[in-house]
Amino acid sequence: MIKVPGIPKSLDDYANLIDPEVSEDIRTVSAQLRDLRVVHINATPAGGGVAEVLQSLVPLMEDGGLRSSWYVIEPHKPFFEVTKKIHNGLQGKTVELSPDEVALYREHNEHLAERIMELESTIDLLILHDPQVLPSLLYLGWKNVIWHCHIDTSTPHQPIQDLVLPYVRSAPRYVVSMPHYVMDGMPQERISVFPPAIDPLSPKNLPLSSSVASEVLSKLGIDLARPLVTQVSRFDPWKDPWGVIDAFRLAREKIPGLQLALVGAMVAQDDPESAEMLESVRNHAANDPDIHIYSESADGADVPVNAFQRLSSVVVQKSLREGFGLTVSEAMWKGAAVIGGNCGGIPYQIEDGVSGYIVSDPADCADRMVELIRQPNLRVELGQAAKERVRQKFLTPRLLLDYLRIIRDMTCSTNDDAAALAPEVQRTTA
Ligand code: UDP
Repeated sequence: MIKVPGIPKSLDDYANLIDPEVSEDIRTVSAQLRDLRVVHINATPAGGGVAEVLQSLVPLMEDGGLRSSWYVIEPHKPFFEVTKKIHNGLQGKTVELSPDEVALYREHNEHLAERIMELESTIDLLILHDPQVLPSLLYLGWKNVIWHCHIDTSTPHQPIQDLVLPYVRSAPRYVVSMPHYVMDGMPQERISVFPPAIDPLSPKNLPLSSSVASEVLSKLGIDLARPLVTQVSRFDPWKDPWGVIDAFRLAREKIPGLQLALVGAMVAQDDPESAEMLESVRNHAANDPDIHIYSESADGADVPVNAFQRLSSVVVQKSLREGFGLTVSEAMWKGAAVIGGNCGGIPYQIEDGVSGYIVSDPADCADRMVELIRQPNLRVELGQAAKERVRQKFLTPRLLLDYLRIIRDMTCSTNDDAAALAPEVQRTTA
């Protein structure tokens, strides 16, 4: 395992962005958990929503007085090829695993459990993220483990569900982003449902002046005098980049000069499919000079992503399956007019027609692109509602509070502990 270094953060810096009760509740619950040693483990330090969340959540737990750290597993290509299949199977794709692949999944996790055991005396609570590291909890046999599944498991491919269910059922606590993601057979009292969140103070989401953002996009070849549609996503089949290109081509028939940016400049180490996908997307774009595909390395991608989300006429996230879709909240937070696919956590973020639009196919998506590009006032109206929705529901302090509450539930189990909690904390738990 490799420890991921964190950049310190302070809850005080969020005071102007969140409701005061949230800060108060965070302080009260954190005080009950002072010095508790919480360890997060996932598959990749960068690329994708989980890494994005942990970069902020871990330092904020630390700021609250917990001793929080984050480890990733060593990259291992054959293992990640298997776990990407499991990820796809859990999201509903028909995939087949050979006996050797199943054995690799198990053995790798058995070794991971051994590595975790070596740290046992330094861990009070372990949080395992996503299916890559799930089986290790069975080999550990600890009671103080949370498994947080960030993907859409509402319609899994049955053999893959059968493979993971024994592990899922052995999880002392199980967190999913949406109620309908809960897999069969989980006792209700072990389940928690809460969505992830974005950090308004990360470089990707901080305010960025129009002049700096314009300079960044001009250097990347975007003509700012012409309308622009953007999707920011890993190159992954579930993100439907082909459908975005199809929608763009339909919309361009009505909006001459329209440009499209597909920004997938961050490679997740646990995603071996991305190179093949990128080639397929390039083929679909067929050297169209108005389709800009960005696939450069992770370093420094935050500011370009920020600039694209701010300056695009429309931001799209036309996914077909989506655990949550943090890119949606990121764009909404910047007051963008956002069009999202009707899946996963996207309709929970965007209230259709109020804080953006929800679409189900490329034609529908194209119609909404045209409507929004033709009506700047509508874009402003939806964008303002979008920003307020994210402020209320999808900023990191809310996620921190959700986590602190379940950690407290798991670690303060005696009557004495409960009695020690401040009255308002007991109220918020109920
Ligand atoms: N991302 C990025 N650069 C890219 C593509 C994606 O920084 O070129 C980030 C994006 O801004 C978001 C995360 O990766 O923070 C993707 O999270 P999401 O929940 O949308 O999807 P996931 O990749 O986890 O399926």
